[in-house]
Amino acid sequence: EKINLIEFMAESAKVFQNAYHRNIEIHSKDEIFATSDVQKLKQLLFIFLDNARKYSDEFIAVYIGKTGNEAYVRIEDRGIGIPKNELEKVFDRFYRVDKARTRKQGGSGLGLSVAKEIADAIHVRIEMDSLEGRGTTVTLFLPSK
Ligand code: ATP
Repeated sequence: EKINLIEFMAESAKVFQNAYHRNIEIHSKDEIFATSDVQKLKQLLFIFLDNARKYSDEFIAVYIGKTGNEAYVRIEDRGIGIPKNELEKVFDRFYRVDKARTRKQGGSGLGLSVAKEIADAIHVRIEMDSLEGRGTTVTLFLPSK
């Protein structure tokens, strides 16, 4: 379906705020539309928002925009970050960075492998960037027409 990404994100953020009392800032200059599967996109975004929540304390922001004929949604946190040499591995099944470090947040290490499968199914490209101790940025590129 055709999705108004700002409305869509605002709705997801509201659900998230009610459940976890964590604020999510949404930034966008224009109305941006994507063509996607609403349910799958919701699941996909939830995995990344949930990680941003689990591995950071305060700041979570979402930037929505357009590049060429793709729309993007960028989720930023200022949390514990991921060491460079681990960045490739976090999409593997059951992989968790430093068990001791992330033990208190629980989790199975499955989230991102599921995210990868969903993303492939709906033709979403994922870019993940992170600096240990600084935070993580995930950008999802979506078909927009
Ligand atoms: P689950 O998603 O099953 O609850 P999980 O969060 O451990 O568990 P993934 O979502 O697959 O599993 O993430 C894998 C690992 O990548 C995490 O254990 C964590 O170490 C790291 N990670 C993922 N997102 C972030 C983030 N935003 N900041 C810091 N580390 C992250």
